[in-house]
Amino acid sequence: MTESKNPYGKRPGGGISLPEEYRPTPSVKNRNVYFGGMEHLGPGEMRISFLGSTPWPPTRSQAGTSMLVELGQKADQPRRFFFDLGNGSVKNAIALQVPPALINDIFISHLHSDHFADLPYSYPFTAWGGRWTPLRVYGPSGRTPELGTKSMVKHMKKMLAWHEDNFDVNPIGDGYEIEVTEFDWKDEGGICYDQDGVVVRHWPRSHVKDGASAFRLDWEEYDLSFVWTGDGRPDEKTAHYGAGADVFVSEGQMDTPALQALKFGMPEDIMKYVLDTSHTMYYAAGYLFDKVQPRIAAINHYEAGGGATDAESIAEIRSHWKGLFMWGGPDCQILNVTKDAIWAREAAMPEGAAVASLDPRWMMPEGAPLPDKMKLPQPKLQREDQQEQFVRDMEIDPHLYYPADVDRPLIQNWPEEGMYLDPREMLAARGIDPDADDDADE
Ligand SMILES: [Zn+2]
Ligand SMILES: [Zn+2]
Repeated sequence: MTESKNPYGKRPGGGISLPEEYRPTPSVKNRNVYFGGMEHLGPGEMRISFLGSTPWPPTRSQAGTSMLVELGQKADQPRRFFFDLGNGSVKNAIALQVPPALINDIFISHLHSDHFADLPYSYPFTAWGGRWTPLRVYGPSGRTPELGTKSMVKHMKKMLAWHEDNFDVNPIGDGYEIEVTEFDWKDEGGICYDQDGVVVRHWPRSHVKDGASAFRLDWEEYDLSFVWTGDGRPDEKTAHYGAGADVFVSEGQMDTPALQALKFGMPEDIMKYVLDTSHTMYYAAGYLFDKVQPRIAAINHYEAGGGATDAESIAEIRSHWKGLFMWGGPDCQILNVTKDAIWAREAAMPEGAAVASLDPRWMMPEGAPLPDKMKLPQPKLQREDQQEQFVRDMEIDPHLYYPADVDRPLIQNWPEEGMYLDPREMLAARGIDPDADDDADE
């Protein structure tokens, strides 16, 4: 019989890969299930939500790759950083009650669409939904200017010309502006974000084409770190820059071309070719984990194959890595981390969870008093500016369908004098008194 040894020391009844520190962190209210929007993250606590976990194909339980890193603070909302924003990931962020207006600071590892497809989908809506300030996107340059993140964003905005104009009948402010921090893909350990004690570094990865990156976030004050490898072949730089990370997330693929051939009917050599040119197979991920020695290692951007194949996947990882491990999928695995505890759970989400309510306090600078009235940004276009009169004339007279007792005047032109929010009224509708000291969430 093979000897099983817990790498963290002898733990009778404690498992063979679990450390003592695997226990709930202070913010955890329900030890088994995470309910989005119900746990206040305090200073020194980090939460990672795996919003999407697959490259391809998307499934009902796996959206395109994305991870949300949240850093706790005294304020109601944590600081947020999105690492990739694959297809379907925003749906999961919304279900987890992340306010759409606060989806910002998006770090794109490379320009494969499984890593940013929800960017074109979401930014006009989040701008409309209260994010009246610019979106911040960070991503690599390419071999030539037209292959970099800036160029992608420029052309994405061209693609959405109709959508932007159309939504310009609404208050948008500067919400369509996208501030792109395009960093040199070659730069090893370069800093692409450095603000208020949080630093994000990047380095190049081997993923067929130049312009693929990995990221490391360091929350310096609390000595907590998160690494996302992005896609690529196992490499020494990733071991170097990832070293000692608290949370180390690698992409991963099962190295079983013979099985893939049976499942997908793909010639075995094509499966090998894709793995061998582009990706990190689980043996290599385990090897990297062992070099990096994170507090917890995770695989995201993978195909969850069900019980039997997941067992094989873990066997491949375990051929090198003995420590704490988790999968990023199925979507919405949640990981809480402090300096002395780590706890993983799954989120519970209604299939049709409504969006988190807009809170006027988010639009104020931290600590600023709430005004009595807040002016909405003035829309840039009216319907008349972008629609022929005859199209509006086709509309059915509302008096014909409104029952008399609910008939109301229509608002079809934005008032020239502007429209105003009453923040106290908005909060009162949700049972919140902003002038009371006690916060309902705490
Ligand atoms: Zn990918
Ligand atoms: Zn890729």
